Amino acid sequence: MVEATPIRFFDKMPDNSGLMDRFGRQLTYLRISVTDRCNMRCDYCRPAADAYQAEPRDHILSYEEIERIARVAAAMGVSKLRITGGEPLVRRDLLTLVEKLAAIPGITDLSMTTNATLLAKYAKDLAAAGLTRINVSLDSLNALRFRKLTGGELAPVLAGIKAANTAGLTPIKLNAVLMRGINAGDEHSEVAELIDFASEHGATIRFIELMPMKQGMDWDAHYISIDEVLQRDDVRQRVDVDAALTTGNTAARYLPLKNGSGDVGFIMPMSERFCEGCNRLRLTSDGGLRSCLPADDQLNLRDLIRRGGSDDDIRAVFLRSALIKPEIGIYDFDAESEKRSMIHIGG
Ligand code: SAM
Repeated sequence: MVEATPIRFFDKMPDNSGLMDRFGRQLTYLRISVTDRCNMRCDYCRPAADAYQAEPRDHILSYEEIERIARVAAAMGVSKLRITGGEPLVRRDLLTLVEKLAAIPGITDLSMTTNATLLAKYAKDLAAAGLTRINVSLDSLNALRFRKLTGGELAPVLAGIKAANTAGLTPIKLNAVLMRGINAGDEHSEVAELIDFASEHGATIRFIELMPMKQGMDWDAHYISIDEVLQRDDVRQRVDVDAALTTGNTAARYLPLKNGSGDVGFIMPMSERFCEGCNRLRLTSDGGLRSCLPADDQLNLRDLIRRGGSDDDIRAVFLRSALIKPEIGIYDFDAESEKRSMIHIGG
């Protein structure tokens, strides 16, 4: 991680100076990874078991440190927080953090990305603690395939989605990474089934193009473009592919479903960059502030805080992170690079 030597632009930084990058993008969204540990081992997300090394626990930010960083971010105009990981629900007492983050003035949207394995247990309490919405990773509805890909069980995930609906953690978004030969392409495609499942559960499904990660899944063998998926007859029966793609304030593009039950989303980091509307920063579980998912030059907030850095010092690091945010994220994860896996960065 790059040492975050505070840059002192101002003696006293104004609280609501806002965070804008060099390309005029206002940064209002912070994704916070609370752990790099997970109770699944999705092949696309982390290196093989023997190559995977979790950070030592004392490298991971405490809830107080996360809250402090989030408060500074909120005072600079960040209004949307997403808790992610690793798997956020495996971290002890997560409800405490949710309460702390929900209470920060200026935060209007507090959501979480989860694999949902533990959601049936926590959904009600998460909603009571102030979580507003939930995104669930769901790559397959076939229990055997799901187990092979993730190392986990499908049934608790489905129970978790149900519990999130009951608890009002809605609208639920389902995320499916597309992988040729696993859940996409020829006879393997589950795209139509996943669309139907989402409709039946009042959720929006978003299909994500596989990104190459260091030591992760063989990208060349499994990558499939959204464009190819949209050629399928069973997809065209469900999705109005001739409609204009719409954008929300997320990285996804949306097309309407023909049955009128909503939209289906497509996240295309490989075939169509979505950088122009990017409003994100990421905080890794070990305190790295990262302005672009595939760019490894993150700044180290943890050491700054632990050396006694002030809120103004933290603000300066946010400003610097905005300053170095690249115009376009380059997904050229080659074997030689230092690119970290999603489980380390926080998805
Ligand atoms: N454990 C939580 C979960 O399963 O949703 C949160 C963390 S996970 C890293 C967040 C998201 O990262 C997942 O929804 C998955 O879609 C995405 N992801 C991880 N590796 C990816 C890859 N190589 N390509 C595309 N998406 C990836």
